Formats: sequence, C-alpha cells, structure tokens
Amino acid sequence: MRICRFDGNHIGVVEGDSVYDVTALFDLKPTWPLPQGDWIMRQLPDLLPRIRDQFRTSKAAPLQSVRLESPVANPGKIIGAPINYRAHIDEANADRDINHGKTFTSLDQYGLFIKANSALIGPSDEVQLRFDDRRNDHEVELAVIIGREARFVPRERALDHVLGYCIGLDMTVRGPEFPGFRKSLDTFAVLGPWLVTRDEIADPNDLALSIRVNGETRQDSRTSYLIFDVQKLIEYASRFYTLHPGDVIMTGTPEGVSQVNPGDVMDASIEKIGSMQVRIARDWARP
Ligand code: MN
Repeated sequence: MRICRFDGNHIGVVEGDSVYDVTALFDLKPTWPLPQGDWIMRQLPDLLPRIRDQFRTSKAAPLQSVRLESPVANPGKIIGAPINYRAHIDEANADRDINHGKTFTSLDQYGLFIKANSALIGPSDEVQLRFDDRRNDHEVELAVIIGREARFVPRERALDHVLGYCIGLDMTVRGPEFPGFRKSLDTFAVLGPWLVTRDEIADPNDLALSIRVNGETRQDSRTSYLIFDVQKLIEYASRFYTLHPGDVIMTGTPEGVSQVNPGDVMDASIEKIGSMQVRIARDWARP
C-alpha cells in the first residue's frame, strides 16, 4: 500500500489516480509526554490490515488535486549514511568542490550523521537555498522508514523493523563544516511522494533510483551498489541509536551529485516507489 500525508495532515491511501482519506482510522490525540518517534507511524503497523480492508469506502480525491506532504510528519530522527556508493566516494575524492580537503574512506570510519527534523519538507514544498557562494547539491537516496523499535538488531531480522520506503533528497551545501550543519538547513530534507509499505518491495537492495534536474539526468544508479545495504545500515545504526517508529534512514547517494540553482526543478524516481517533482525556490532565504 501507498500511504501519504496530504492537504494539511490528512492521512491517505494512494491507489491509481486517487487518494482515499483514512485519517479517521487513527488516534490523533496523544497525551504528553509523547512516545519517541512519530505518533502516526507508531500506529500504522497494527492498523495496516484494517486500512487495507476499509480504505475504498473512504472519501477519495484525485491524486493530481492534493498537496503532498512528507509521509512522516515528526520523525524522531533522520539518519544519514555518508559515502555509501563506491562511485560517489570516487567522485567526491576527485573533486575538491565536494571533498574540501577531506579524503573519504569508508562509512564505518566516518559514522552516520543526523539531519535536523526542522529541515524536513514534502514534495509540494520548495527547497530554499541559503549560501549563494557555495555549491548546493542534490543527493537522491532510498529512504527507509522504521515501523518497530530497533536496538542491536542483527541483519537477519533487520527488515522486520521496516515499515516502508520512500524517496529521500539529502540536500547538501558543500563546504568545510560538519555534515550535521551543512545538511540540516531548513528545507534540506525532502521525503515523498508517499510511503510504500515493506510488503511491496521484496528486495530494497535492488531498486533503480535517479534524479533529473530541469529534465537532464544527473544521477542514475541502483541500490544494488550500496556498500552498507539496507539490512546492514539498520544493524549498524541500531547499535548506537534506538530506532523508533517513524525514524528515517537516508541510505546514501550514488554518483552524479551536482549543483542546483534557484528556480530549478528536480524530478526524483525510485523503482517500485514512484516519482516526485520538487522545486528549488526562486528566492534565497532571507530574514
Ligand atoms: Mn547523502
């Protein structure tokens, strides 16, 4: 199933060209203190059978007419995997505009990074750039959405903790600062267009992913080239961070990262998930 958030925090099921509003099936009144993670994603694993049975009786709207928001509203954390495709490590080490004097080796030498939740937007929002003297790059990535708490999970059981997948854009300012700064600017984490539940993707490590900018293909690869595959990323991340429902792992980007400029249009696609078009705002962020 394809689960989306749309038109101001409605929860929907996407089927064909329609969005069915299933918001009424969720408990929308959490009591303080909230459990860690996302309140709706926490309910989803148990609700999926009921949603599957009932969604066609809900009010439907044409998919084209709705405003798609990030499928996860409040991830507990957005985990980023740096340097996780060999060809991207090679391009980064060959280009000073990307590496800023660093030599990239392996993911476990650099560890993971966290993107601020305040950076999160959906496909109907615009990415807004801030450093007009820097490269602002697109990074298209498979994003994994956690469904059940995970701590010290072995790879054999890693996928049991996955709720589903979506497209992630790990927008990045190139420069000397730590990734947690350069990748956490407002609007620099894009998730969409919807969450595809785990049962629809037999092997997350065998998906085509690509991005075009203004119609020109920039990145075009497959998740089969991941160095730390999805299971290994969950095993690795859950050794250090408890993963909560709604937490997101952006699994890393393949080669072909390049600059985006105000007014550009990005078209990102991942096989078995879908496509989303995301605009770069014409105006730079200003106070
Ligand atoms: Mn990335």
